[in-house]
Amino acid sequence: MTSLATRSVTAGYGDRVALRDADLELRSGELVAVVGPNGAGKSTLIRVLAGLLRPRSGAVSLDGIDLRGLDRGQIARRIAVVPQVFDTLFPFSVREVVGLGRTARLGILGRASAADRAAVARAMRELDLDSLGTRPIDALSGGERQRALLAMALAQESDVLLLDEPTAHLDPAHQLATLDLLRRLAAERGLVVVAVLHDLNLASALASRVVVVAGGRVVSDGPPARIVNEELVRSVFGARLAVLPGDPPFVLPRVGGR
Ligand code: ADP
Repeated sequence: MTSLATRSVTAGYGDRVALRDADLELRSGELVAVVGPNGAGKSTLIRVLAGLLRPRSGAVSLDGIDLRGLDRGQIARRIAVVPQVFDTLFPFSVREVVGLGRTARLGILGRASAADRAAVARAMRELDLDSLGTRPIDALSGGERQRALLAMALAQESDVLLLDEPTAHLDPAHQLATLDLLRRLAAERGLVVVAVLHDLNLASALASRVVVVAGGRVVSDGPPARIVNEELVRSVFGARLAVLPGDPPFVLPRVGGR
C-alpha cells in the first residue's frame, strides 16, 4: 500500500505562486485525473508530487516520509514521472529510451541485469512498441514518442506513476488504450497513478477520482459522477459547456446559443 500526500503545499517560481495550500492524499489502486484550465497549476502539482519542485511551505510525503529526507535515487525508485516534453540531445533508439527508465536501479557498474532487460521488454510490449525498438526517438510521430515515454516510466517499476498530459498526442484508440492500461496498473498492480488530462469525458469514464485545479487551488476532489457536474464545469471552464449527469457524466459543448 503506497500513499503520496501533500500537506498545505504552496509552491511557485520566483515570486509567482502557482499552487496554494494543496492538501491531497493519493493512494494505491487509484487512477486520479487532474483536470483544470491552462495555467491552473496542474503541472506544478505534478512537479511537487515528483519531488522536482520544492514546496515553499508545507510538505510532500511518501508513505509518511518527507520527500526532503530522500535523495534523488531513492525517489526515482519509488516515483516515475512522464513529462510533457522530453528533449534528448542524442538520437537514442526507442529501446534505449525505455532502458533509461532503469537508470536508478543499475548497479555500480551500470550494467543491465536480466531483471532490467525483462522490465524493458515488458514495458515495450505493454505500450505496443515492439516494432519500433530500433527507431531513433526523434524520428517518431508525437503519439509514438508519447508511448515510448510512458514505457520508459513503466520500466522504472515504481510504486507511483505521475503523468503530465499522457494522451495529448494520441489518437482516440491509443488514448483509450493508454488510460485503460493506467487503470489496470492502478487496480491490478496497486500503483498510485496520477495523470493530468484535458478530456473531461475520458477522465470521467476511466478515472476513479477527479481532482480539479483552478487558479492554483484544488477546488474539487472526488469520484467523477459527483465532481463532473454542470455547475463545477461551467465555473471552472466557462459557460459554453453542458453536462449530462450520469455515471460517467458526459460533457458537451453548447453551440450557437442552444
Ligand atoms: P497548468 O499545468 O495547469 O497549465 P502550470 O502548473 O504549468 O499550469 O502553471 C501554473 C502557473 O505557473 C502559470 O501561471 C504559469 O505561467 C506559471 N509557471 C509554470 N512554469 C513556470 C516556470 N518554469 N517559471 C515561471 N512560471 C511558471
